[in-house]
Amino acid sequence: MAGPAAPTAAASVHLSLGEVHALASRCLVANGCDAVNAGAVADTIAAAERDICLSHGLFRLPGYVASLRSGKVNGSARPQVEDLAPGVVRVDGKGGFAPLALQAGREPLMGKARSQGIAALALNDIHHFAALWPEVEALAEQGLCAFAFTAAFPYVVAAGGRRPIYGTNPMAFAWPRPGRDPLVFDQASSALARGEIMIAAREGHEVPPGTGIDADGNATTDPKAILDGGAQLPFGGYKGASIALMIELLVGALIGDKFSFEALAADNGDGGPPKGGELMLAIDPARFGDPEGFAAHAELLFAQITAEEGVRLPADRRRRNRATTATAGVAVDAALHARILDLAGG
Ligand code: NDP
Repeated sequence: MAGPAAPTAAASVHLSLGEVHALASRCLVANGCDAVNAGAVADTIAAAERDICLSHGLFRLPGYVASLRSGKVNGSARPQVEDLAPGVVRVDGKGGFAPLALQAGREPLMGKARSQGIAALALNDIHHFAALWPEVEALAEQGLCAFAFTAAFPYVVAAGGRRPIYGTNPMAFAWPRPGRDPLVFDQASSALARGEIMIAAREGHEVPPGTGIDADGNATTDPKAILDGGAQLPFGGYKGASIALMIELLVGALIGDKFSFEALAADNGDGGPPKGGELMLAIDPARFGDPEGFAAHAELLFAQITAEEGVRLPADRRRRNRATTATAGVAVDAALHARILDLAGG
């Protein structure tokens, strides 16, 4: 699915990326987050705005705030790193937001991947409310191949089903390209990310056919019917459903955390992120079969793919946006901006 369009100038407020970061951080601190956690979450929000991934930028801030106010999320969490096995590191997020736990786990994961060739990071007791690409991109910038998986609340039906059982369960992959930006893809296992459906409902436009069903199980393009008692569909029918199933198993049963339906059962309904886990895998290509040639070999494939007109690599859209917003700043929906100022206490 194409990324969301920027809000129209008439309904938007212009902010620099520094202002986005400062606003997010101030709003979180005003609602009970300590400065370290607020800074880590604001990094994630500012990165999403920078790349124009609007459904995971400032749009998420009211949800983060709701979870601080309700007491669901620990805004002062200090993640604890634990060595589980030669190739497995665990971070106990202590009930906080995901970004600080991810920061804590990054170096140990990279160290294990470099010494073992492959390693896993299991993050437990976190609240993930963002895109996954920042965490895999950070590893690929350090020369590693990376995967990330997380679950959500049950929004998506199983193949042939009408009852939501899977989260929108995203998975992300990054491939290092020495001297260039990594190749990254990051995609929900639903046909459309939930944030995009929420934005469509807010802005009053339809979603593409195949996005979801209404409360009676009928296909619909009305975002409100999908959100109010309906359900989302997996991408690619049963194939996307199987990926959602795999992710439930990896971040629920494998690492000892919650399935999406368990996250819902444990939730207080504050509108913020679910409590759950995340699994990351890191691979050092220098430890596999072509340590000297893997990068150049991959470039041959990328060159073949992009030789065709109209074809691009995943992450190219974000990178183009990044080049623009670094100097031009971003347009923030005016109503959202006003709401955030209100949440921040003016
Ligand atoms: P999209 O469908 O918009 O994009 C998925 C991927 O495909 C992106 O990497 C995108 O790259 C790439 N892509 C899109 N169009 C093309 C194209 N024409 N050619 C090549 N590559 C292309 O994302 P989703 O809607 O599936 O997911 C949105 C976000 O939601 C993800 O970041 C995901 O992590 C997040 N999410 C988070 C959840 C959570 O609980 N934390 C739950 C569910 C989703 P590009 O960015 O360059 O367009």
